[in-house]
Amino acid sequence: MAVLNSPQPHERHQFYQSQSTGNVVSALQEARLAREQARSYRNFKVGAAIVGLTFLSRELSLFTGYNIKPAADSHINIHAEELALQAAHAEKIDAVSLVTIVGDTQLDQQSGREMLTLHPCGLCRNALDDDPLVLNDSTLVFSALPDFSTVEYGTVNDFTHYHHADPGESVRLRQLSLPPIDNILPTDPAYIDVLNRRFSA
Ligand SMILES: [Zn+2]
Repeated sequence: MAVLNSPQPHERHQFYQSQSTGNVVSALQEARLAREQARSYRNFKVGAAIVGLTFLSRELSLFTGYNIKPAADSHINIHAEELALQAAHAEKIDAVSLVTIVGDTQLDQQSGREMLTLHPCGLCRNALDDDPLVLNDSTLVFSALPDFSTVEYGTVNDFTHYHHADPGESVRLRQLSLPPIDNILPTDPAYIDVLNRRFSA
């Protein structure tokens, strides 16, 4: 089916990133909540949320996922981003604007790189890279520790570059500083203010 009202190439980048700051925080909060449903034999819990765009109606929708791996030798091994992407595709959105991922960090199993926050794993990076709903230079990824004390963000390309850089090359993702989350609601002006400042910098 043809996509009506699809943004022109020159406005695509801006359109994909036309998220309100409140949406970013909401998506982080939703990923954090989704993480509570994760099932992991080694208690390695990951939550993800995706903000999808529908061009014709200009609507945004949010999809969540969590990881499921009940046992070390289980043939079931579902990643949080995978589940969220499946849900997004099922709703026939036109584009993935934003991906958030929340979990404890570990060494990246594909690149061997240390990470300040848990990035999408090698498989999920490839899945995002290949996904027709994702624009690699425009879709934004936000990865956060569960208490939001560290939040990194960049385009899908930025995350790919981080893991494919030469060993000696120092690559850093951009970071957001958020106030402590436990007593602040997503709509709290304190969040919005911080995010606005960061994005306009
Ligand atoms: Zn993954």
